[in-house]
Parts: sequence; C-alpha cells; structure tokens
Amino acid sequence: MPRKSKDGCRVCQWSDTQVVDSRPDKNDRVWRRRECLKCGHRFTTHEVRADALNEVRKQLILAELELEDLKKSIRTIYKSCKLGEFNDDT
Ligand SMILES: [Zn+2]
Repeated sequence: MPRKSKDGCRVCQWSDTQVVDSRPDKNDRVWRRRECLKCGHRFTTHEVRADALNEVRKQLILAELELEDLKKSIRTIYKSCKLGEFNDDT
C-alpha cells in the first residue's frame, strides 16, 4: 500500500486512513468520513464508486464509437454533396 495518495491525510499526507462513516452520495458517489491512523485528523472525501466509473468509461467508449459513425456519415454526406454540387455546376 502506498504511503502517499490523494486520498490520504490532509495534514500529514499519511495514506493509511480509516473510514469512520460512509454513505452514498447523489451522482453515484460515496461520501466518506475518514480518520488518519497517524495523527487522527478527520476529513471527508467524495469518492466515485468503481462500478460507476466503469459505467462512465463504457458510455464514453460507446460515445466515441457513435462519434466515429457520425464522422463517417458526415464524410459520406459531404462527399455526395460535393458530387451533387459538381454535377449542378457542370
Ligand atoms: Zn494525518
């Protein structure tokens, strides 16, 4: 386990913290009350649930695929428009 992390203690940067309270947040996040095992400092974190994060990743990949399809469609439309223009010009 790393000794330093962004979820670690704000005061002494110690990464070993104990969750003293936890409840689901809105927006699929988890509100956590943590206590530093070194200095006893208590702080609150809002953590993104791993499964929620995976869901976001999945949506992002799908969105990217849709975007690729869209780009292809636009290219096809653009090409046919261009051809149409040329046909009208001549
Ligand atoms: Zn601490």
